[in-house]
Amino acid sequence: MAISYAKLNNGTWGIRAQGVQVSAGDQVMVLTKAGVAKPERVAKIVWSAADGSVMLAAIEPKTTGTTGPKAYKPNPSQFAGHEADATEFETYSQKNAARVNAAFASCGCVAYTSVFTVNRWDAQGYRVAPGQAPVQVQTMRPKFDDPADKQKVTGWVWTLTPLFCSHQVVKAVKG
Ligand SMILES: [Zn+2]
Repeated sequence: MAISYAKLNNGTWGIRAQGVQVSAGDQVMVLTKAGVAKPERVAKIVWSAADGSVMLAAIEPKTTGTTGPKAYKPNPSQFAGHEADATEFETYSQKNAARVNAAFASCGCVAYTSVFTVNRWDAQGYRVAPGQAPVQVQTMRPKFDDPADKQKVTGWVWTLTPLFCSHQVVKAVKG
């Protein structure tokens, strides 16, 4: 039995439940491509196989009235020391991950697992190998331009983020 994210016909992200019955209102753990389990609440069943072995379901948005990346609530402490890229790629969103994974489909590298910014590779002790060009991936980043509350997400903007995968980096040699 497995529950994973799936793009629904209406373009929103829902879940695919295989070998497990879900119903509206259920709290479920959904496994991302990166192997991280995330809690979601089933909003409604949109499709079910005749024998019930596979179901597609809509999920409730994290914040009332919004869907997708807009529902993301950043936790500033999570990004301590990584503020520069926290405003871009490190701001996790399902849509960013899907775009990044599509951009690296040919080698199979996965967002937040084997695909990072230069800064994040550097923080992990790797540098970009000579001659490697970044893959520019269009991602969304939050705007924090409320003068009264700098922690508040006021909107989302598109940005091009240069990313490298594990095939393009080498272990940095110190000294
Ligand atoms: Zn790769």
